[in-house]
Amino acid sequence: MPELPEVETLCRQLRRKISGGKILDSKIYDQKLTGIKNLKGCVVSAVERRGKTITIFLAEGPCALIHLRMTGRFFWQKDSSRPKHSRWKMTFKDGHVFLVDPRRFATINVQKATPEKIQNDLITDFDEKTFFEKHAGRRVNIKNLLMDPRAIAGIGNIYVCEILHRAGISPLKSALDLSGEEWKKIFTNARRILKKAIEKRGTSISDWRDLYGRKGENQHELKAYGRDGKRCLVCGGSIRRIKQGGRSTFYCPDCQT
Ligand SMILES: [Zn+2]
Repeated sequence: MPELPEVETLCRQLRRKISGGKILDSKIYDQKLTGIKNLKGCVVSAVERRGKTITIFLAEGPCALIHLRMTGRFFWQKDSSRPKHSRWKMTFKDGHVFLVDPRRFATINVQKATPEKIQNDLITDFDEKTFFEKHAGRRVNIKNLLMDPRAIAGIGNIYVCEILHRAGISPLKSALDLSGEEWKKIFTNARRILKKAIEKRGTSISDWRDLYGRKGENQHELKAYGRDGKRCLVCGGSIRRIKQGGRSTFYCPDCQT
């Protein structure tokens, strides 16, 4: 499932490719996508990301809010031949953008109102005061708290494992027991890791590909995720895999305390 860096990668590439462009044709292949109104003739004025939602702003007023969910991807193609599992196509002067989505969970909604700011996106807009008031004191382990989209938008299993490893904090620790210094380490490392992953165009462990069908390169930067049994690159201990909230957690019991 794409997380914040993957969605940001797509968003940046889309912005460069279609911003200012006119949608010459908009074709819906999947009738499950009932939220798309006819966008033919509209001009894209901006493409922005909030959490894991991509918003395509149109000069005519409305905007399209897209959530990729599990397997949704955008691909740019020069030719108009329809890729397998494509659900939607937008045609521009020099090529086509296809929404390809084998599991068909991605959603698109066209609305008039500008979407509200979300204030829990670590890269674009984060209200620390609200986070500490509402979430920091919860009696839940820090791994599951960071995975909760109500607390922090857009980060999932891979990046949370990496953030806690780099911060040297045990995923089993209760959020309630974290000191101010530890929270600072979490936020500093979270931003550092997410920015690096955006630079590397996301993590391609399974099926993630960018707008041009290329793999990201952040999988080579991972120091905890998927490395169970291997040597910890911080302390020389051994990375362990456990289950938390039904998901695998990778961490080093020696340097994450
Ligand atoms: Zn270690």
